Formats: sequence, structure tokens, C-alpha cells
Amino acid sequence: MHDDHDHSHDHDHDHPHDPGHHHDDDHHHDNHYSDMQARVRALETVLTEKGLIDPKAIDQIVETYQTRVGPRNGARVVAKAWSDPEFRDWLKRDATAAISSLGYSGRQGEHMRAVFNTEDTHNLVVCTLCSCYPWAVLGLPPTWYKAPAYRSRAVIDPRGVLAEFGLTLAETTKIRVWDSTAELRYLVIPERPEGTQEMSEDELSALVSRDAMIGTAIAGHASTGDGY
Ligand code: FE
Repeated sequence: MHDDHDHSHDHDHDHPHDPGHHHDDDHHHDNHYSDMQARVRALETVLTEKGLIDPKAIDQIVETYQTRVGPRNGARVVAKAWSDPEFRDWLKRDATAAISSLGYSGRQGEHMRAVFNTEDTHNLVVCTLCSCYPWAVLGLPPTWYKAPAYRSRAVIDPRGVLAEFGLTLAETTKIRVWDSTAELRYLVIPERPEGTQEMSEDELSALVSRDAMIGTAIAGHASTGDGY
């Protein structure tokens, strides 16, 4: 239930850079925090002083999801679902197990559900309450995913939101919107683009962008890889 919603992941913290490191002049400095960053920093300081958190542990978690885990994990899941019917079935039945068989599991990915786009149905993922997101397969959420405008409008006017992302669906295409929670995270499995029968899983995964796995895009456009 949403009452149990886990807000611990909503740690909107601009990862501090190595203090010993020299940065370019255009870099953000400590006195240029946004209000939210300043509040997070103040909260982190208080919790650290009280001995409730270890800032090194937090930095390590942020670092992991910023650099090691990212949308490429999800793209490999999608490419395998396109290439391997048994894996596709497994993903439909038990996405958590199928995804963790590829080594992608852990925080914010404990309970996964894969939702499959079809010719007549498009899936879109949101967290209306905060920013629940499948970290294990997509890394950290993009800024817009956490923005109040997306969170409310994705539910009220999904077709309009998709159009703003440059995705215009046929009027006959049904849009299903999935509201993520701390208990359940969704991964959109986009449709496999036409003309890709000969492609390897690696080649296929390059066609799957982060946004295609949130549902604000479709597969078929080569991704830059970093997503954000
Ligand atoms: Fe959330």
C-alpha cells in the first residue's frame, strides 16, 4: 500500500565530488546548492552528527547507481526477451526472478513486473507519490520522472504527455499507466522494431533507450547509452 511507501530512495542529493580534486570553473561549488540540495545537505549533516547514517555508505550507494548500474541493464533484459521466447515467458510470469538471473537485483528492484507493449497497447510507468523506479535495471531516475508535472499528468493525460516526449500514438492504441510503489517496480518491454531479425542481442540492446523502458519512447532509435 502507499501508506508503506518507502521514501528512503528519494534522496535527491547531488553527489559531492572528490574534495581533493580540481574542477573546472563552470562546476557547481558548495555555495551554489539549490534549495533542495541545501536541505538535503543539512539533513544529511544532522543525521550524520547524530550517528544515524554513515555518509560514506550513502556516497557508495549513490556512486554505484550513478556509474555501475544503468539503463544498459534493462536494455539487456529487453533484448533477451526479444530473442529468447523462454526468457520472455519467464519475464511475464516472474520478472523478479528472470531479471535477477541476469545478475540484476537488489535495491529498488526486489519486486519487478514486466509490462509488454503490443500492437494495440502501450505501457507507461510513473510514481505518482514520489519517484519509485526500478534501479536495478534502469539506474537512477531522470529528473523529469521525479517532477510533479510528470507524476500528475502521466495519469490524467498520458497521451498528451507522450506527445510532449515526441511520441504520438494512434488514437486506437490503448495506454496503460502503471503507478510504481516501494513494493512493485515496472519495466516496460517495448515492441521489437521491424527489420531486426538478424540482429544479435548486443545489437538489439543498443536499440533500447531508458525512455523506451519507462514508456515515454518506443524502441528503435539507437541510444546514447548514458541516458542522462
Ligand atoms: Fe515513489
